[in-house]
Amino acid sequence: CGIVGYIGTKRAQDFVMDGLEKLEYRGYDSAGIAVNTGNGKFAVTKKEGRLQRLADELHTNPIEGTIGIGHTRWATHGKPSDTNSHPHFNKDKTIVVVHNGIIENYLELKKDLISKGYEFLSETDTEVIAHLLDMNFDGDILEAVRKSLKSLKGAYALGVMSTKDPDRIIAVRKESPLIVGIGKGENYLASDIPAILKYTRDMYLIENGEIVEIKKDSIKIMDQDGNPINRDVFHVEWDI
Ligand code: GLU
Repeated sequence: CGIVGYIGTKRAQDFVMDGLEKLEYRGYDSAGIAVNTGNGKFAVTKKEGRLQRLADELHTNPIEGTIGIGHTRWATHGKPSDTNSHPHFNKDKTIVVVHNGIIENYLELKKDLISKGYEFLSETDTEVIAHLLDMNFDGDILEAVRKSLKSLKGAYALGVMSTKDPDRIIAVRKESPLIVGIGKGENYLASDIPAILKYTRDMYLIENGEIVEIKKDSIKIMDQDGNPINRDVFHVEWDI
């Protein structure tokens, strides 16, 4: 339902929680966050229920790291629960994904992945993406995303990170809104403008079928074949 991401030099958790709060009006049943703490695996914290429960947990056990993604979930496949909340991850927690929308062919993909030895923790359609990325990962997370997209049917906006390719967030838009905010020495990802308006008024509106590579000092928009796309900066004049 809501996606927020941060890459820069400040504590990612603060930005992500602030952004998710701004998206609460859209409705959700659970929330979660993944941050790269630099120890090889993502720290993932997820809570069913009000965002405040996640905020309380992060207050008690903060996650230190400057790259992170978060999600508020509106369950479509699998009941609301801590485990079914996003981010979802691969077996060794080196790849994480948040997803808005529905993967229509997830049962078929799940069957195939299980036959290849992948184990599923959740009942969501989203988790297939994490394992698909794992299967297609060869050191380059952008490449893994591009390969995996070929198998996915449905509507989705995605945020993806890997600890093994740690300096970027990859995002994808297909039939589900996504924007990228332009900061100074930091950049932002969100499913809607209010999430990031406190931090920047300059953003790129991502269009259908586009992939974005977000680093702390650069943003590259491309099509599914990797061809670069030039987009004018969208300047937001209004306030929340
Ligand atoms: N289909 C996904 C799920 O049920 C994502 C739902 C959403 O957009 O929040 O987990």
